Amino acid sequence: MDNHPNILHGPPLERYVTGSLGELLLMLLKVHDDNIVLVDPSIDEELSATALLAKSIQVAKWLKSLGIGLGDRVCVNSENRFEFAITTAATMLVAATFAPLNPDYTPAEANHVIKLSKPKVIFCSELTINKMKGLKSEHSYIQKLVLFGPTSYPDSDIVIFENILNGVTEIDESFTAPEVDPNETVATILCSSGTTGLPKGVMCTHENMAAFFDIGRMQFLDMLISDDPSDAIMGLTPFFHSFGFMLMFVNIVRGKKMVVIRKFQTKLFLDAIVRYKVRRLIVPPPVLLVLIKSPLTKNYDLSCLKEIRSGAAALGKDMEQELKERFKIKTVAQSYGMTETTLGVLLNITGEKLGSVGKIVPGMMVKIINEEGEPLGPYQEGEVCFKGPLIMKGYVDNPQATAETIDPDGWLHTGDIAYYDEDGFFFIVDRIKELIKYKGFQVAPAELEGLLLTRPEIQDAAVIGLPDENAGELPLAYVVIREGYHITENQIQKFLADSLSPQKQLRGGVIFVNEIPRNQTGKILRRVLRERARGLVKAK
Ligand code: AMP
Repeated sequence: MDNHPNILHGPPLERYVTGSLGELLLMLLKVHDDNIVLVDPSIDEELSATALLAKSIQVAKWLKSLGIGLGDRVCVNSENRFEFAITTAATMLVAATFAPLNPDYTPAEANHVIKLSKPKVIFCSELTINKMKGLKSEHSYIQKLVLFGPTSYPDSDIVIFENILNGVTEIDESFTAPEVDPNETVATILCSSGTTGLPKGVMCTHENMAAFFDIGRMQFLDMLISDDPSDAIMGLTPFFHSFGFMLMFVNIVRGKKMVVIRKFQTKLFLDAIVRYKVRRLIVPPPVLLVLIKSPLTKNYDLSCLKEIRSGAAALGKDMEQELKERFKIKTVAQSYGMTETTLGVLLNITGEKLGSVGKIVPGMMVKIINEEGEPLGPYQEGEVCFKGPLIMKGYVDNPQATAETIDPDGWLHTGDIAYYDEDGFFFIVDRIKELIKYKGFQVAPAELEGLLLTRPEIQDAAVIGLPDENAGELPLAYVVIREGYHITENQIQKFLADSLSPQKQLRGGVIFVNEIPRNQTGKILRRVLRERARGLVKAK
């Protein structure tokens, strides 16, 4: 079945990483020794591999003292910072599951995601502690809240992270990580709405992540074996999202420097590129747009940049070309992946063929299918599907959504439309799933529609993505007002501003209509609405 001529196979995957991620970290962080693995320009501090391991073991021992281990979940709700990475490593060291969440979430959004992962401990920063205090009182499974940063806090129920660390500097050599079944044990639960509905918890196993490390090893060997321990990459994509999270983890595994950016600011970002001589920029498209458009860029000598890689959303062909010319960079390339595929499954290693997301990675299979499910040949557009060791285990406690996404033969249906050329290079052309991507962040239309429909004035609503040069897409709502009622766009915008995080606001606007186009079974005809919205963009 899988040897159909229109199914494309990546090269054979050479496997090195086996066993648990905890064992891997214990081994590799000792090897990386004094190498600086994290720097934070906002506090001017750095962390070596040894210090990271010493602290992670200390936190792991604290988790163990609470009885937390295999099968339990640990959550971090914070901006990017050292403690995020330490807690990730500590969670792996006790073989628990790491379930981060967006610090910008409103209490209602956070509540939805917390109910999926049911963490026993939540690590927060000052940005999120109040929100999490409210949630802890609602869910008895949350045993402890831990605060990153300050050394004291007025509420004695809150555990201070620095007190757990207790000034540790030495690695406890007696610490061992438990053995796990890598195929079954869930390492992470990250958030994604998938092809339809509300955000769900994506379960990736130790084996999913180990396979990605081996793929990375084959595809980016120069990044791993370069003997320059300062070969820095930028950690500015939020660590709660699969792109930022995996990059942070991969960086720990490779044992070189990551510049941790807590909150994106153009000047801080440009300063950091120059100060740490960043060679490879691996970021989502909106950051690259800043690089092109910001008037500040011209004040910097960015000649240290040798490679730009983009992911999480489409990077236009024109932008690729402009980046190459403006910054004289040979390799400007993009990759394609989903939270459900661990990270990138299509990678353009060399950056050849502008606009292409590249070829299938080692160990994976890809096909483009038509509506009948038949695999198509070159230059034919259809839904792109993947199979292999990077495919998630499933959505947490949601066998139905899992079965709707991964078919009985193990193929993951992405909801993205693509084609490949005669050399096996893929081009993403459209999206048939509901998902909207605002600056690389996921916006699930079902979430906004559900909220809009709680208003008595609104009879029906549909939310789609309006194409936008800067953000990729802007959420736009079509709204039907109930007879005898009245509501304005401002009132709707205000209502959503109070309930949803900044990424999910209706920046594309609100359009009042008499009817939402639906098919006979009541499903919103999103394609029709998206066509209409494209017309609006053209008319502008
Ligand atoms: P996420 O799970 O948040 O990473 O979102 C995955 C989705 O982002 C994919 O299903 C695509 O719709 C979109 N995406 C990711 N990378 C690209 C890319 N290079 N080009 C176009 N769309 C992309």
